[in-house]
Amino acid sequence: METKETIRKFALLNAFGHEGKAQMQSVLGKILAEQPHLKTKIKEVANLVKEVVEEINKLQPGEQKRLIEKSWPEALLKEKIEEERILPSLPNVEKYKRVVTRFSPNPDCVLHLGSARAIVLCYEYAKKYDGVFYLRFEDTDPRLKKSALQFYDSIRRDLIWLGCKWDAEFIQSDRILIYYEHAEKLLSNGHAYVCTCQSKEFRRKILVKKPCPCRDLSPSDNFVRWKHMLNGAYKEGEAVVRVKTDLTHPNPAVRDWPALRIIDTTRYPHPRVGSKYRVWPLYNFACGIDDHLIGVTHIIRGKEHLTNQIRQEYMYTHFGWEYPEAIHYGRLKVTGASLSKSKIVEGVRSGVYRSWDDPRLATFLALRRRGIAPEAVKSLIIDVGPKTSDVTLSWENLYAHNRKIIDPVAKRYFFVHNPTELSVEKIPHPFVTKLPLHPDHPRKGFRYFKIEPKKNKASFLISSNDIDLLKARKKIRLMGLFNFKVEKIRKHLIEASFSSKSHEEAKKLGAPLIHWLPIDTGVSCEVTMPDASIAKGMAEENCKKLHSDDIIQFERFGFARIDKVDKGITAYFAHR
Ligand SMILES: [Zn+2]
Repeated sequence: METKETIRKFALLNAFGHEGKAQMQSVLGKILAEQPHLKTKIKEVANLVKEVVEEINKLQPGEQKRLIEKSWPEALLKEKIEEERILPSLPNVEKYKRVVTRFSPNPDCVLHLGSARAIVLCYEYAKKYDGVFYLRFEDTDPRLKKSALQFYDSIRRDLIWLGCKWDAEFIQSDRILIYYEHAEKLLSNGHAYVCTCQSKEFRRKILVKKPCPCRDLSPSDNFVRWKHMLNGAYKEGEAVVRVKTDLTHPNPAVRDWPALRIIDTTRYPHPRVGSKYRVWPLYNFACGIDDHLIGVTHIIRGKEHLTNQIRQEYMYTHFGWEYPEAIHYGRLKVTGASLSKSKIVEGVRSGVYRSWDDPRLATFLALRRRGIAPEAVKSLIIDVGPKTSDVTLSWENLYAHNRKIIDPVAKRYFFVHNPTELSVEKIPHPFVTKLPLHPDHPRKGFRYFKIEPKKNKASFLISSNDIDLLKARKKIRLMGLFNFKVEKIRKHLIEASFSSKSHEEAKKLGAPLIHWLPIDTGVSCEVTMPDASIAKGMAEENCKKLHSDDIIQFERFGFARIDKVDKGITAYFAHR
């Protein structure tokens, strides 16, 4: 009975998200995800789901909504949010037992925003269809796209940070013998050949759709050459295995593409397997074979891979395999962010960037350090989806998503950037003022400030960035405290006099609100800005209680992530 009630809930919610018509498969998927033990009784459960869905689908949408509001009001809210940014369906899901996707980075750099689309879409689609998501390291170019041990781990950490945990992991440098085995199959069937032509010579022929002399070698001749590749008789650059394609294919880059080549690993050892192998698969060969062998059903990748699909399809035909569904999304540009791996690697190696998490970079490490929530990256990408048109985003788009997440939770503090002294006279009495840690959530608590004037005079720190404001407007309000009148602006001292306590009056006058600290209080604070410059100043005493990784807002300055708290505070700026 309890199960039936749960099915009712999912059916109603599903109907609500699909114009009043619940989808039997989705409801079944949800119930099995929540109560996996039911998988043993799948037939009964499916019948029950069918019965409930039919019953629910007879109801008017208004009635469905009323029932949800009555019994599961919170679920309705959550469902609404999820429905808002739902991904379009994948093609031909019903053809496969389960959806399998993969993210396949070359571990030659840390991950950055440019990889987010592949990761998030592959992960989210696998989740959506109760499928599996694989991580595959494509590390078969020890010469030009050389991987490094540190990046395997940093990529794993980046994925975990992003909340995209993979179900299984593959490393191509562990699979070299599998590629050899498949190369040998193609050679023995006459679908591939070992080409020893000089690449210039080969290109000259292929451009006019003519075969090179190696193409017609017998399988046994090819095997002799293949052994020469493996045993070192051929040197680097002297032989490649080519997969046969249609020589008249309109795109010359498709014609008889190279599948395996020799790399002198005594000179260019692989970081994991050293000089164990000298014949290495090229991208299309390794990727194409793996996608089939590990059972990828949906390849989701950028449209720059369209030609690769055409190349690989020839190989799939040779093996009698069926090519997976392929979804090619458009290019994603982020204005003002360098998403070039080689530039990032070069910049870090040469010291232009301090580290992989330098705030000028769009690496996940840098985003994390600045206090960008992984959920913000996720929701940004889900918003963009897998569409084929090119998309240009700005940092501001990412910040908008992040703001939605952190604004409701970030506690507020004062940070006086570039402080200067403000001396106020004619203060009638001492003040104890309390300011909320969050303006919308008084339950989060308050910060207290005590002002004890001597001879009716007290001094404050305010930001020199506000001096222009003081020059323009003679009446100013210290946030949460009182209003003052500017008397004289000197180089290191601003003289002022108390004007009134009333916030109403400040509002009426349109007096600007500025933040402040009582002089001789606070803790020194350095905020690393997105351009790697450092904003120095004083933060309020309460900040001493903060911890590394806290995300806060310095009022009128911006959101920041606390990096370190010891004698002083160091923080990283997120955005306004
Ligand atoms: Zn040749």
